[in-house]
Amino acid sequence: MSASDPRKNSKRPDVHLEVGRRFAKHKQRYSNKRRAIVSLLETADKPLTITEILRRSKNTKGRRDEIAQSSLYRNLSVLEDVGAIQRVASTDDLSRYELTEDILGHHHHMLCSSCGEMRDVKIPHHLEAELNATFKRLAKKSGFKLAQHRLDLIGRCKNC
Ligand SMILES: [Zn+2]
Ligand SMILES: [Zn+2]
Repeated sequence: MSASDPRKNSKRPDVHLEVGRRFAKHKQRYSNKRRAIVSLLETADKPLTITEILRRSKNTKGRRDEIAQSSLYRNLSVLEDVGAIQRVASTDDLSRYELTEDILGHHHHMLCSSCGEMRDVKIPHHLEAELNATFKRLAKKSGFKLAQHRLDLIGRCKNC
């Protein structure tokens, strides 16, 4: 997806269909555990840490879908390899995961510099368009071909 075409939530394609396609391309199996992880990440409004994924997997659909920590690490690394999820850096050392931007849609993050908590942030379309125009101009001056942008809001969350 190009940076000038931020996708709305409502236009999100079927996530499991798209992730399944990537698994097929890499000749990997899109198992129920992996589906459960993708569902958790899809419905979260933020990138999730390992601990949060484990906690949420216990809380949602009963013990059947519970994911053991060892298998979670393996499944996350496979999901990363097929290009379904990516690691996101916050202000602490914890690994956080979210669906790749071409699946989840373009957005930004709000980071707490005190506890590392992170939230997804959507910027209105017209502002994204203005940002893109500005960034393209800046890039052009440096002979840089702009593909996308990242922009984090950093401060203190309501709990800190
Ligand atoms: Zn905080
Ligand atoms: Zn943006």
